[in-house]
Amino acid sequence: VAALEFAWERAEPIPAERRQELLALPGFGDTYSDHMVTVRWQAELGWHDARVGPLAPLSLHPATMAFHYGQTVFEGLKAFWRPNGQRALFRPADHARRFNRSAPRMAMPTLPEEDFLAALEALLRADGTWVPRARGHSFYLRPFLIATETHLSNRPAEEYLFALIGSPARPAFAAEPKPMRLWAATEYIRAAPGGTGAVKCGGNYGGSYIAQQQAAANDCDQVVWLDARERRYIEEAGGSNLFFVESTTDGPRLRTPPLSGTLLAGVTRDSILRLAGWLGYPVAEEPLTLDKWEQGCRDGRITEAFACGTARAITPVGHVVSAQREWPVGNGTAGPVTSRLLEALLDIQYGRTPDEFGWMRLV
Ligand code: PMP
Repeated sequence: VAALEFAWERAEPIPAERRQELLALPGFGDTYSDHMVTVRWQAELGWHDARVGPLAPLSLHPATMAFHYGQTVFEGLKAFWRPNGQRALFRPADHARRFNRSAPRMAMPTLPEEDFLAALEALLRADGTWVPRARGHSFYLRPFLIATETHLSNRPAEEYLFALIGSPARPAFAAEPKPMRLWAATEYIRAAPGGTGAVKCGGNYGGSYIAQQQAAANDCDQVVWLDARERRYIEEAGGSNLFFVESTTDGPRLRTPPLSGTLLAGVTRDSILRLAGWLGYPVAEEPLTLDKWEQGCRDGRITEAFACGTARAITPVGHVVSAQREWPVGNGTAGPVTSRLLEALLDIQYGRTPDEFGWMRLV
């Protein structure tokens, strides 16, 4: 049972015609719905002052600790329009649990799961008209937590702000997602054992952009992150997890790097592991080196690869590029197993097939 009581202040909504115009444009993360949720935390009071109100800038003192020492964590999840006019959140409790693994790693307070869910539902109730209807379109929810204490001491803050904003997500791709070119990063790493790679703190992302810039300079879409120690084992692709499709005499088999402690445990990754089993594909959480990936592609044992995450569901990998070499994965386009998994995932999210796994929370 949620403990927080939300005070409501209705926003002056953006006119419906303008909203429809915005919802029709392609894009991600550039348009926001009318409301936001905020909840404050203080050492003596715990969580308090829960509000649903108009989306508005935050006013923060320049010595706000989040600006200086990086105590920020976030989540990203989606709501989908259902054929019956309801909206459904995809695996929100799993995102709540990951949020509550991220916060303590950064010495920040956890938000009870029921309150996290209540915040999501409150925003969806306030801004339900912002959930686009078309398949491939969705409403992205961004919960985050920042240190708001005004102090220059280098220590954990004693005041925090939880906030939740929402943004309609319209796909860049029309029908088929475009296969990605991945850049194998050997100069920079994303995460090291004992570090913060397994959680969603802001610094993980800021620290990754220099490698992303190298990827772009090499005509690639995303970085493939390798392990910190040996720079051999594949970990993730940009802000998503990776899967490989291997051909065996018994048919296709899926492989994904294990959660070694330096990877983010993607909710989509977990969904694909379960969907794969359900569709009859064997799955293995087994390490793979970059060299073995290349060999496997060259001798036909690895026929497909794809990245997966909330933002773009499943995106095929067409090519891998490193400073030394470049190779295609399969024939460089989305393979049949990748396409089948994507369809199965979208069918559940958009309510075209029964929710076998109990992933959808109707609001
Ligand atoms: N890895 C990283 C580093 C990410 O930022 C994300 C996006 N949250 C993922 C993987 C995929 O996670 P999810 O499927 O939960 O979105």
